[in-house]
Amino acid sequence: MNQPNIKDFLNKNVSTLSGVGIKIKNLLRKKKIEKISDLLWSFPHGSTDRSNFQTLNNLEIGKITTIKVTVLKYNFPRLRNLPNKVICSDGSGKIDIIFFNSKEGYIKKILPINSEVVISGKINYFKKKYQITNPAYVVPIEKKEYVNKLIPKYSLTDGLTEKIYRKIIEQVLGKIPSIQEWHSKDILEKIGNASWKESIINLHKKESNDYNSKYYRRLAYDEILSNFIVLSQVRKRIKKFKKIKKIFNNDLSDQIIKNFYFKLTADQKKTISEINQDLISEYKMFRILQGDVGSGKTIVAFIGAANVIQSNYQVAMMSPTEILAIQHYDLAKKIFKNLNVNIELITSKTKYKEKLLIQKKLKNGKINFLIGTHSLFQKGIVFNNLGLVIIDEQHKFGVRQRIQLSNKGGKNCDILLMSATPIPRTLIMAVYGDMDVSRIIEKPKNRKKIITLSKPEDKIDEVLVFIKKQISIGNQIFWICPLIDESKILNYSAAIKKFNFLSKKFPNRVGLIHGSLDKIQKKHVLNNFLNKKIDVLVSTTVIEVGIDFANANVIVIENSDKFGLSQLHQLRGRVGRGVLQSTCILLYKKNLSENAKKRIKILKSLNDGFLIADEDMKLRGFGDVLGYQQSGIKNFKIADPVHHEELFKIAEKNIKDIEVSQNSFEKYNFLIKLFDKANIISEIEL
Ligand code: ADP
Ligand code: MG
Repeated sequence: MNQPNIKDFLNKNVSTLSGVGIKIKNLLRKKKIEKISDLLWSFPHGSTDRSNFQTLNNLEIGKITTIKVTVLKYNFPRLRNLPNKVICSDGSGKIDIIFFNSKEGYIKKILPINSEVVISGKINYFKKKYQITNPAYVVPIEKKEYVNKLIPKYSLTDGLTEKIYRKIIEQVLGKIPSIQEWHSKDILEKIGNASWKESIINLHKKESNDYNSKYYRRLAYDEILSNFIVLSQVRKRIKKFKKIKKIFNNDLSDQIIKNFYFKLTADQKKTISEINQDLISEYKMFRILQGDVGSGKTIVAFIGAANVIQSNYQVAMMSPTEILAIQHYDLAKKIFKNLNVNIELITSKTKYKEKLLIQKKLKNGKINFLIGTHSLFQKGIVFNNLGLVIIDEQHKFGVRQRIQLSNKGGKNCDILLMSATPIPRTLIMAVYGDMDVSRIIEKPKNRKKIITLSKPEDKIDEVLVFIKKQISIGNQIFWICPLIDESKILNYSAAIKKFNFLSKKFPNRVGLIHGSLDKIQKKHVLNNFLNKKIDVLVSTTVIEVGIDFANANVIVIENSDKFGLSQLHQLRGRVGRGVLQSTCILLYKKNLSENAKKRIKILKSLNDGFLIADEDMKLRGFGDVLGYQQSGIKNFKIADPVHHEELFKIAEKNIKDIEVSQNSFEKYNFLIKLFDKANIISEIEL
């Protein structure tokens, strides 16, 4: 839909407005306002109350007040640095109106002697007299309505006063052209029947922004839908990429499955078949595999990898940390043992010579499966025929990075992402609308609920008694000293201290791992733990994601009060992976905040990551739940999943209807531009 008038209008520079010269233009730029659209999207937060008139015998120092007074007398000192003064009264008392940097002529014009005026500003008290210095408003009594009310409060800056800003924004609001509606009648009815224009105007005039007003809802809905449309477009484009179909029988994967000591869960089987369908299709796979910690995603991915390898393509698997990459590598070695699959590991710590060799073998197609960290995508790493990229625990990937990944993998490369970040139901589309989603809900049957306890730190002796007992029956313990301070030194100094402390209690049975150990050291410690040469592993949060030790069944988390619910849940997920009854002990410093108390309580009562994510969202607001910048959903300016759950649901249905009725995206082109999202779609290489 072409809406030339409104587009031109929104793109106009603010300097085209009357009253905006160079000086104001620069002040506005400081507030990141350059175009008219920037003005419209900067909504007021709250309001300044200038509605009540006060008499001069009833003033309160420090309060913003509106007064109705008569001008008595001028006092213009004509000395530099001394302000001009105008004395006014209202019968009940007197007040000085003080002007710094205002010319006499101007003051005489706005405050003629004997005239009745309305003045609004903050009350001061100086040398036993009330004053208002540089009042926000001085208007003749006839114009009192302009001042005498609740006035929207914008984020301003020195020199950009409320009065000036009001002139600008009111001008703009008065000029918004009419605009053709993009929503259907049906949708409009559901969200409250307010037009875009009236909604914008209203949100600027309202003294407070009520999430549930029809105006707010309208704009929130616009934003949600534009987000969904963009993701849907991305998906549509990527899914259009034709690739050579992968051809395989199940020989290799059956062999692998047969060797497991357990049976796959129904959800694992289902996701494996979804992935296989994508692999044999002539269109590129662009799929996310979601499942709570410990739900068994790795094995599903490896089976996918096996099938791709069997169809003579290479597979790359990227992990967020070196430890995890090593673990995946070891597991892959075991799983593919004697199956004639060539597997290599590459991380930032891989030696130069070794790297060159890997590069060479990769290019020649001698490596089937390359596992690593970000180093996988360095320059110089060139695949012979990459057929699948698997990204594990991809918390830190937003739409943009996913698009880059798809571009990078090349034409015949399928993409599988895995995430244990439980996304609240409301947000699935907003976060992953560009991908197909597979979910593992059901956990392996042998799992027991993790028992979660909390203890103040000064009761550490009780914890030690418990641990001693666990060790005596052959169980193993993670002891986590999470990073609180961003500084690296502090980060592991706490872990080292605890290691020394615990080593005294359990001589030769304690290990230590943190981010600054090198690959060999890390591997050594992890192997010691795996082979039960040590019973307690003290660690920073490096083990947060993914690490898998079925025999560890106790996790102690220090400073648990300092962490978000989802992160604690991830940490706790390091245990409870085998058949043993597991325990998580949350240690905290005394004097818990209300919020920390709530978090600990929720963790004690819930074990399901998805339910925890919902609670987390309620406690923290949605933006922080995912804990990463580029989630895409952080970009919501107006919508809020906690308050607008229903709108997300409506939009989900709406987008599906739009997808079904082809060619109807065009109608929303303007909407997408409104939210500045058009460029995301164009980043896909065609
Ligand atoms: P995550 O989904 O957190 O990545 P993993 O893939 O690391 O989980 O699996 C966690 C543990 O569960 C591993 O030790 C794995 O061998 C085991 N596991 C996976 N699938 C099953 C299953 N169907 N039954 C029992 N154990 C399983
Ligand atoms: Mg994992």
